[in-house]
Amino acid sequence: MSILEVIQLEKRFGGLEVLQGIDFSLNQGESLAIIGSSGSGKTTLLRCLNFLERPDKGRIIVNGQVIFDADDPSTQREGEVRKKRLHFGLVFQSFNLFPQYTALQNVVLAPKLLAKELPDFTKNKQSYFNEIEAHGRTLLDQVGLTDKLGAYPHMLSGGQQQRVAIARALALEPDILCFDEPTSALDPELTGEVLKVIRALANRNTTMVIVTHEMDFARSVADRVIFMDEGVIVEQGTPEEVFGNPKEERTRQFLARYKESN
Ligand code: ADP
Ligand code: MG
Repeated sequence: MSILEVIQLEKRFGGLEVLQGIDFSLNQGESLAIIGSSGSGKTTLLRCLNFLERPDKGRIIVNGQVIFDADDPSTQREGEVRKKRLHFGLVFQSFNLFPQYTALQNVVLAPKLLAKELPDFTKNKQSYFNEIEAHGRTLLDQVGLTDKLGAYPHMLSGGQQQRVAIARALALEPDILCFDEPTSALDPELTGEVLKVIRALANRNTTMVIVTHEMDFARSVADRVIFMDEGVIVEQGTPEEVFGNPKEERTRQFLARYKESN
């Protein structure tokens, strides 16, 4: 079953059409890689999914529920947007950890804030916090940072910080975890450790949308691939289809350019 459906999404910035007619769906447990040149609209698409941008047209459906419809203001109420955002986790290029907090504190911060809003929070504070911290430890363990729970960001490498950021995104148990070029701010020798964590998540059937420049990674990890250019989806299909046997000339040119530069 589709966990995510994006229907005819459009986004303009002033006169600039940044996204046009964006249509795709994603099944539970699958990972989708989005590839394309710089400026093709990949980040804007992720930002639309996460309610960081408001699309001008189209619909976003999660688990059969219309969470955004450009024509229906009742889906855009301020108060509900924060809750709807929780469907999506987002890992950016830059890790943006809080420097004054340890790895574990960075991971548990948002879940603790959310717990405070529960009606029985005051009565059960300690058990909620214990549970959240146990979960945070498990997540940091999953990303290979068991021995770094108490480390501050400045004590961690870029790759380690990005793994904390992944654990932090997982801590809110999103339906769909989105990555925006998660390794492009890293030194090449640190890229592998982050890709390995994402690969492990894919193997555990985490539903993911991964914007990436790492073509070999996309080809080997993704269940589906979208190639975007100038705000449109030029081609989408399985990795074998898009990488192995692209139908569109623009896709072939993009892949050829990538091959040349790597
Ligand atoms: P990508 O992530 O594929 O590199 P982006 O989604 O960042 O592409 O950008 C797509 C286009 O939208 C670019 O031309 C970019 O300059 C433009 N753009 C992105 N954000 C804004 C904004 N806030 N205001 C105006 N133009 C923007
Ligand atoms: Mg981008």
